[in-house]
Amino acid sequence: MHRKKKTVNTWFPEQSDFAGKDDILSLMDFTAVELGEKIKSGDVSVVDAAKDCLDAIEKSEKDICAFITRIDEKEVIRQAEEIQKKIDAGELSGPLAGVPVAIKDNICTEGIRTTCASRILSDFIPPYSATVVSKLQNEGALIVGKTNMDEFAMGSTTETSYFGVTKNPWNLNRVPGGSSGGSAAAVSAHQVTFALGSDTGGSIRQPCAYCGVTGIKPTYGSVSRNGLIAYGSSLEQIGPIAKDVRDCAVILEAIMGHDTKDSTSVKRKKPGLLSSLTEDITGVRIGVPRDYFNSGTDIQIKDAVLEAVKVLTKKGAVVEEFDLSLVEYAVPAYYIIASAEAGSNLSRFDGVKYGFRTKEYNDLHQMYKRTRSEGFGDEVKRRIMLGSFVLSAGYYDAYYMKALKSKALIKKAFDSAFEKYDVILGPVTPSVAPETGTSLKDPIKMYLGDIYTVSANLAGLPAISVPCGLDEEGMPIGLQLMGDCFNEKDVLKVAYAFEKTRDYQKSPAASGGKAV
Ligand code: GLN
Repeated sequence: MHRKKKTVNTWFPEQSDFAGKDDILSLMDFTAVELGEKIKSGDVSVVDAAKDCLDAIEKSEKDICAFITRIDEKEVIRQAEEIQKKIDAGELSGPLAGVPVAIKDNICTEGIRTTCASRILSDFIPPYSATVVSKLQNEGALIVGKTNMDEFAMGSTTETSYFGVTKNPWNLNRVPGGSSGGSAAAVSAHQVTFALGSDTGGSIRQPCAYCGVTGIKPTYGSVSRNGLIAYGSSLEQIGPIAKDVRDCAVILEAIMGHDTKDSTSVKRKKPGLLSSLTEDITGVRIGVPRDYFNSGTDIQIKDAVLEAVKVLTKKGAVVEEFDLSLVEYAVPAYYIIASAEAGSNLSRFDGVKYGFRTKEYNDLHQMYKRTRSEGFGDEVKRRIMLGSFVLSAGYYDAYYMKALKSKALIKKAFDSAFEKYDVILGPVTPSVAPETGTSLKDPIKMYLGDIYTVSANLAGLPAISVPCGLDEEGMPIGLQLMGDCFNEKDVLKVAYAFEKTRDYQKSPAASGGKAV
């Protein structure tokens, strides 16, 4: 490790409120906010943080494969020095100044390759940065790389990437979840303190649940999608993946806000999310949908989630079961709408404007056909075909229109639930992370695994995943808390109060050892 002003071990006695006394091996073991505080106070320099981050990535990346692109060491250090100068000059004083971050590879970064984990964009270098990236850079965050994901964010396992499979830091034989599997694995393995992901149908929350870290999908329209390579435009949002709820609040606060470059972004006053981080949840009304505990959900997950209900009740929350109708329509409606939008969004990848182009062709149509056949993977092709089918003249009303109607009814069901409850609680996933190589054989089963996450996207709601225990085999389980639109505050409040009742559990990969 590398320390600037203080000699070896001087920051050890303070340790981390978050991780406890004995666990600190690297600066990446701190939360983003803790590390930011240490940088601000001069305990450690931005270069110290950058070097620890690069070391941590170097150490576990061979096992985890969380990154598609790692920024060159010299460049990271150069930028770290520049950020340090700005901090010293008083130009940067925010909580994320100098803190290393990894960005999901469907979020554009100027001058840094952005692939969407697809062959078709394997050499694409964006000429501009996504608004969220510029916002983080203006705060002084230090980008160290682009993380692996399912191709074009379609998937639940990070196995459909053109750049290889990411492993779960808790058990290298399991998937990290998807599609933001690289971001969740990088945080879980303590390669970085935080990362950005995107969530179209659960892609922040599900990998967070599988990897034992915390992530929030914000309300639709609250974070700019400018520069997020589109998959399901009406469903997706960028959000933070971090070690704890406080980090999520701070990062979300930094990236949210109206953006004229995104016509779906909403003009609202900043909500002041940090004020919601109190442990007092007396009188908070929590609804638990009965339908979320069906027979398809693993008993250990049910138990862990019901245990969380007990804990929250003890802390003063008023918890009640209720019937949230239409749950069984969420997955089919989601896959129809998401595929329809994907088919349309992905039509721009044709080998003409940018990205990969097939080598041999005789005419324009053959060039399109071969480029797309060679450039896209199987799952992406399946979605484009499904999307084209449900939008085709003869089937539009039967599928797409019906899906839109279901979406509206689901939103209505949530609206009436939020008249009674501040927060809705349930599992994130019906099972823990499956073994690598088992999911893609049965895509329908894999799609059904999204049962608890997709509704928040269909209804535009904020939803967080927080760790709530391990199963018998030591795999993490996630607890989901959803709020009404623009009520991130109650979601964060309950999540924070719950998190405070538990110790942070470090993945084996983050503990310096091999996962399995
Ligand atoms: N598993 C879902 C899908 O494949 C969710 C993906 C996402 O949120 N990007 O569509």
